[in-house]
Amino acid sequence: MRRHRNVKIVATLGPASSDYDTIRALHEAGADVFRLNMSHGEHGEIAERHRIIRQIEEDLNSPIAILADLQGPKLRVGTFARGEEELVEGAAFRLDLDEAEGDTSRVCLPHPEIFAALEPGADLLVNDGKIRLRVTACGADFAECEVVIGGTISNRKGVNVPDVVLPLAALSDKDRADLEFVCELGVDWLALSFVQRPEDVNEARTLTKGRAAILSKIEKPAAVKCFDDILAVSDGIMVARGDLGVELPVQNVPPIQKRLVRKCRAMAKPVIVATQMLESMIESPMPTRAEVSDVATAIYEGSDAIMLSAESAAGDYPVEAVQTMDNVAREVENDPTYREVIEASRRADRQTVADGIVAAAREIAETTDIKVICCYTESGTTALLTARERPKVPIIGLTSLRGTARRLALTWGVHPVMTGELTRFKMAVINAARAARAEGYAEETDQIVVTAGVPFNVPGTTNILRVAPCQESLIYATDPG
Ligand code: PGA
Ligand code: MN
Repeated sequence: MRRHRNVKIVATLGPASSDYDTIRALHEAGADVFRLNMSHGEHGEIAERHRIIRQIEEDLNSPIAILADLQGPKLRVGTFARGEEELVEGAAFRLDLDEAEGDTSRVCLPHPEIFAALEPGADLLVNDGKIRLRVTACGADFAECEVVIGGTISNRKGVNVPDVVLPLAALSDKDRADLEFVCELGVDWLALSFVQRPEDVNEARTLTKGRAAILSKIEKPAAVKCFDDILAVSDGIMVARGDLGVELPVQNVPPIQKRLVRKCRAMAKPVIVATQMLESMIESPMPTRAEVSDVATAIYEGSDAIMLSAESAAGDYPVEAVQTMDNVAREVENDPTYREVIEASRRADRQTVADGIVAAAREIAETTDIKVICCYTESGTTALLTARERPKVPIIGLTSLRGTARRLALTWGVHPVMTGELTRFKMAVINAARAARAEGYAEETDQIVVTAGVPFNVPGTTNILRVAPCQESLIYATDPG
């Protein structure tokens, strides 16, 4: 399915989007990647959503990436007898270890380590910082709080404690169990929440054993500080603005977003800008102007992907939210200023043959009337390098590996297509031309650029660039070999 934009859309699945028809409608409207949030949903539900996505992928013959998002050492309250309660300013509210359902006077906070680290005067922020509780007294298994800023508190809302350093491991027991579960199901990306150091990423990589690519969510001040080291050991990054904007002053988030996106682009690693992008669309079919502008900003910056959270997981307008992102993306990417901004912010430290070939592919495609760059890739690296060039023409990433095709669904501008195993370069050109025509990227009379590595199936050998006609008889007639 051809998309008419380069930026990718990640849609989080949840109660509002868990049946075949809705997930398919989300994909058809533009969702390239589905996020399974391990913080919500039982393993049975996660497995069912996973099964449905794979079914849609097969029915539409369109590679879809699945991103499983581990909860990480995120603190969350328990559940409420009535699902939610209103906390009013000045009221007392108690947090404790009692697993009984909460009410307007108390709720469970199932983290003994937090009570050990809390002190009177510390603030706890609930629900993306919307509610502020101040500790007035605490012990080994409780904290009495005063509601400083009130609001609605509901089941399993997140809790941040910015004033206190919490001695928490990178992966909880739940994370380890979830990691094994989703890796066995078969996911393409594994997102790690609340990464603080590169060691956290390495630890997850050891457990993942190559079964998924690893994406680090940047949502802690500590992770911002050692970002370069985290990026070096990660396959992708999420600018997780929700928790980041709670742990740090909100006005720090936009500059961090800009810096992180540029660094990821320079390293050819996919970066997702996430959270509250179309927040008002949880309840309204129309976004605010500010939200549209925020989505546009992430696209102008050259982010690989933009993400929907509650908008698609629990909102009233999940499909409309995806459509809105798609509309904004098409408009921005057709703006001549977009090309100027993208080109001015291109940073590519080119060292290898592959770096040179992908740069040449872009030059040729942009100098002449080439419709698409078709790049053969096994590990996905050549497609990532081609995307780093942020070319004006689309990229088809051809691969014989299903996992590579799926992972590339997250990468800017890359339309992944599965091919069979190849032995001859001529066959590679013919297959590329067929894919370009079949997927709606080129006509018989058009020309394409094909890049590949010969011999085939040896990773890291990209060494051929050919400008080829799309018509099969002409490919034979002009074949040099
Ligand atoms: P979350 O992560 O939705 O899992 O909290 C994203 C964020 O914090 O922005
Ligand atoms: Mn988060």
